[in-house]
Amino acid sequence: MLDFWFRASQPILYGGIVAAVLWGVFSATVALLFLLLVLLATMVYRARQLYKLGVWLNDPRIETIPEADGLWDEVFAALYKMVKQHKQTKQELAEELQHIEQATAALPEGVVILNDANRIEWCNPLAGQHFSVDIERDYMQDITYLMRQPEFVEYLAESNFSEPLMMTPARHDDMVLSIKLIPYGGDKRLMISRDITQLERIEAMRRDFVANVSHELRTPLTVVNGYVENLQDMPDLAREDRQRALQLMAEQTRRMENLVADLLTLSRLESDQNPLREEAVDMAALLDESCREGMLLSNGRHALRLEVARAFNLAGNREELHSAFGNLVSNAIRYTPEGGEILLRWGERSGQPVFSVQDSGIGIAPQHIPRLTERFYRVDRSRSRETGGTGLGLAIVKHIAMRHQAKLEVLSEEGKGSTFALVFPAGRAAR
Ligand code: ADP
Repeated sequence: MLDFWFRASQPILYGGIVAAVLWGVFSATVALLFLLLVLLATMVYRARQLYKLGVWLNDPRIETIPEADGLWDEVFAALYKMVKQHKQTKQELAEELQHIEQATAALPEGVVILNDANRIEWCNPLAGQHFSVDIERDYMQDITYLMRQPEFVEYLAESNFSEPLMMTPARHDDMVLSIKLIPYGGDKRLMISRDITQLERIEAMRRDFVANVSHELRTPLTVVNGYVENLQDMPDLAREDRQRALQLMAEQTRRMENLVADLLTLSRLESDQNPLREEAVDMAALLDESCREGMLLSNGRHALRLEVARAFNLAGNREELHSAFGNLVSNAIRYTPEGGEILLRWGERSGQPVFSVQDSGIGIAPQHIPRLTERFYRVDRSRSRETGGTGLGLAIVKHIAMRHQAKLEVLSEEGKGSTFALVFPAGRAAR
């Protein structure tokens, strides 16, 4: 402190000493005049530095900090240090903020910050997609202005947010969102949104599947039940009638058996614990077996032929391929009237192995073709049932194809016939 006062008063101190000498040599007037001059110069110098400081404070940039000597230099140096530190802290905070923004942008959930009046203060890009919010345009916009659905407005007005709200945003009618509000920081709210469209779809499929299986089982069960009751009520039923009832019961039981077998096959094919066991499949034997089985099923009602354009084997699972080929051949027989022709073909197309079954049957109208591999999808329900179909055959074929990276192609014309082809990747050919 003492040092500061000494340095601050140095110009006046030295001026005083010189003035005392001038007094001795000349006169008191000269000395006073000199002292006045020193004071004036000191004042002007300090006023100038103050002016420079004032100008700089208006736009305090590190590059434009003024230069000076002595005490003023120390003041400006201290300011320089302060501004530099401030700039560094600001930069660190900006980087920190950027990290947080990057982290929230990478979140698999949408995040919106709402203030106490439900106005949007911030949102991450995913929330922008979910709620069609553009933060530049919609900053401080009321969220209910963008999301007007009554259920959402009601949810927002509630004070209990323990359960999430499931809803479809107005501008994405194919999307299902799960929305949850979390109050924080006194009067703010964090709105978290999750796209559960896929989950909902799987849940709907599961519900449909259970309903379909129950429906498929109910009819044969009702029939069997009816006959059992009949037989119980009429113990003296004629031998012929009894025989007929038993035969019909056996038919229905077989239908249920087929359904359960197909369901088990499907679930085995879908299981993650059942990877494809590959082997070199002897195609000549497999094709021969499929053709013979087809002939047995047709029982001489169709002209069945096997054509092998090029003999080569395939890398895959024999049992699964047998099941896929069998399903295609059985369909061709069941949907081709008596006297029709069925051709099984094994060959290649642009190096890719192809197995196809062509029939001259009833054919399929184009609008049904994309849906044929859906479980329980049938063009003609009664024809499928009459011929012992479960509605799962092509779903099984599609799964087997997928496990072999093959494609199932369907070409068909109503009234003329169909061709179902399995096109395998070239790499599966074992020549
Ligand atoms: P299904 O057990 O009913 O035959 P699939 O899954 O095997 O079940 O086939 C689904 C539907 O596709 C059938 O119900 C039938 O309407 C149609 N379909 C399949 N193959 C043929 C074919 N070769 N000719 C005409 N329609 C066919």
